Amino acid sequence: MLPTLHEQFSLRELNSFGVDARARFFCRVCGADELAALAAEPKLADLPRLVLGGGSNLLLTRDFDGLVIKVEVPGLHELGEADGTWHVEVGAGENWHATVGRLLAIERPGLENLALIPGNCGAAPIQNIGAYGLELAERFDSLLAWDFEARQQVRMSATECDFGYRDSAFKQGLAGRRVVLSITLALPRQWQPVAGYADVEHELKARGIGQPGARDIFDAVVTIRRRKLPDPATTGNAGSFFKNPIVTREEHRALIAHHPSLVGYPLPGGRVKLAAGWLIDAAGLKGATRGRAGVYEKQALVLVNRGGATGAEILALAREVQDKVAEKFGLWLEPEPVIV
Ligand SMILES: Cc1cc2nc3c(=O)[nH]c(=O)nc-3n(C[C@H](O)[C@H](O)[C@H](O)COP(=O)(O)OP(=O)(O)OC[C@H]3O[C@@H](n4cnc5c(N)ncnc54)[C@H](O)[C@@H]3O)c2cc1C
Repeated sequence: MLPTLHEQFSLRELNSFGVDARARFFCRVCGADELAALAAEPKLADLPRLVLGGGSNLLLTRDFDGLVIKVEVPGLHELGEADGTWHVEVGAGENWHATVGRLLAIERPGLENLALIPGNCGAAPIQNIGAYGLELAERFDSLLAWDFEARQQVRMSATECDFGYRDSAFKQGLAGRRVVLSITLALPRQWQPVAGYADVEHELKARGIGQPGARDIFDAVVTIRRRKLPDPATTGNAGSFFKNPIVTREEHRALIAHHPSLVGYPLPGGRVKLAAGWLIDAAGLKGATRGRAGVYEKQALVLVNRGGATGAEILALAREVQDKVAEKFGLWLEPEPVIV
């Protein structure tokens, strides 16, 4: 059945930047039948589509002259065990953090490092969410999606999703074409803590915990995140606005020679991931305000809406950050959120 279509619908409450932009058409979907009906609707046939979850990784810079589909597929089902992992299927519309908590409560740990990441489960594979030493790809089996071109459901393995650092096939070309309906997680039966990340290590030490359980890591991650990141409920933001740039060993050496305190993390294979927040801070932009947009005081990687900012204002600030970092370090920062 065709879902109710709203025209000229305000998306202000549906994006974590709190930016006001309108969708020409907007609807909520709970399953593939509704997507099939949308695909068959002639008046929508040639319109661009934007798929929406919790709106926490999105910068809307203008009204969207097309169809916005908010995915609200519910459900959480245990599928059993395979290859040393518990398989759990979760509807795309389920809130990510609540799902991490629910799984812990039924003794299916493995996602605790990714606690408190805003947004919904359907968006988790889109940029292969990651935090505190873990990425979704390490706990992922497959997903079920609706394909608007084939007009049918398709299952995609991790290989087909082509996960990378804050990247997947969805960011490369499947955006608007495939809508994630559910994801199937693969959670380790033999759980081991992932507690080597410096912030997590320090927090656990401060709490006097030597051998952490999954709940300890969950609590530590939640505490760290609350301390460091602005809450979108009070300050509009999309988390990290830029990816951490990755450079070769030689490039890193050359940069360190000029900037000895440069923060970087070695990667397998000799490359180095640089802390984009450090670069922005060193470019003199931490805490900067331009109109109603700003660079967050406590973490320069986060751009914030200081109240009533337009998407264009936030984008202009992002461009300034890119230009100043490029000028000082010769590095171009790639945005992490999807810019529409
Ligand atoms: C305070 C804060 C902290 C954050 N911290 C992190 C972090 O630590 N690590 C991290 O990786 N991210 C982080 N993020 C970014 C964001 O929370 C994640 O990327 C999250 O997965 C986005 O989910 P969402 O449902 O809000 O997606 P949306 O913003 O709604 O959508 C993001 C992208 O996914 C697409 N999409 C959404 N749902 C679907 C679907 N069902 N099918 C197909 N495409 C879809 C959209 O079209 C869009 O391109 C943070 C954001 C905030 C505000």
